[in-house]
Amino acid sequence: MTTDCLFCRIVTGEIPGDIVYQDAEIVAFRDIHPVAPTHILILPREHIGSVQEMGECDGALIGRMVLCARQLAEQEGVAERGYRLVVNCGPEGGQVVPHLHLHLIGGRKLDDSMG
Ligand code: 5GP
Ligand code: ZN
Repeated sequence: MTTDCLFCRIVTGEIPGDIVYQDAEIVAFRDIHPVAPTHILILPREHIGSVQEMGECDGALIGRMVLCARQLAEQEGVAERGYRLVVNCGPEGGQVVPHLHLHLIGGRKLDDSMG
């Protein structure tokens, strides 16, 4: 927990979030500014700043985050139509909140171009 981290504060309940899934390791909540009908952020409870700050042991964690996203895509009814998983990293990668998170975006046809 980093007290000045927005997502840590949502994880602890200090700031409200529309939480759709949580377990001992992972929390998922709806993005406050959704870019599609389904836009969920999946993140570790533990404060990890970004992919750049992941340790060697965190590989399994990101795998569980992806599996969590797949389960949520199924729950949201977007799994068959398709969806996008995005991890922004650092300023030029478009990361605004410095707590590692995976975006699950779906429910409309997304643009084919990246970047
Ligand atoms: P990033 O650009 O860091 O990959 O994504 C950060 C995301 O967090 C953005 O999509 C933004 O809309 C979302 N966000 C920012 N502040 C809040 C907040 O207070 N609550 C929630 N639920 N999402 C937020
Ligand atoms: Zn944090």
